[in-house]
Amino acid sequence: MGKVNIGLRGWRFDEDEVFDESGELRPLETMEPDTRDRIVRLASMMGEPCDACYLIHGDEDIQQCNVARVIYGEPLGEVLLCPDHEADFLYWFREDGGKQYAGETELEDEFHEWFAAGGRAPENYGGLQHVNTDPDDIPEEPDISDEIPTLEEEIEKLDDEDLDALDVNLDDLDF
Ligand SMILES: [Zn+2]
Repeated sequence: MGKVNIGLRGWRFDEDEVFDESGELRPLETMEPDTRDRIVRLASMMGEPCDACYLIHGDEDIQQCNVARVIYGEPLGEVLLCPDHEADFLYWFREDGGKQYAGETELEDEFHEWFAAGGRAPENYGGLQHVNTDPDDIPEEPDISDEIPTLEEEIEKLDDEDLDALDVNLDDLDF
């Protein structure tokens, strides 16, 4: 069974659980609750700024922030990162105590605190291989597929009624 990223790199899904044989997103109500939470969170996170950029620039200079391409952490405790700042997160996670928050929503606040206090990866920090912030996940071969289905497309296919039936309100999920 293959693992895929959807929309943002980071969270990985069992391809068979999320997509049907023709590559369509399965109805949300048929997914495991954790998978569903992540899909819904992803939908609300698309196009959001990188957390680290935002900590630097804030609302006043939001145009200076890069759009996040990577997501780590747990639903409601996500860290969103642009490629420039992914190294800082990976350094913190691996080398500076971040790993103890794997699987916890505290990961987000703890990383923000570290970064806001000036925490950065050393120059040319080489550890750019993706880490897994889900402690229950089994280590696996890196995914060599570059194909990332776009979540916007998939979400657009979802019926509003489907979302209503699930009592999902994307606005409520925003920070
Ligand atoms: Zn950034």
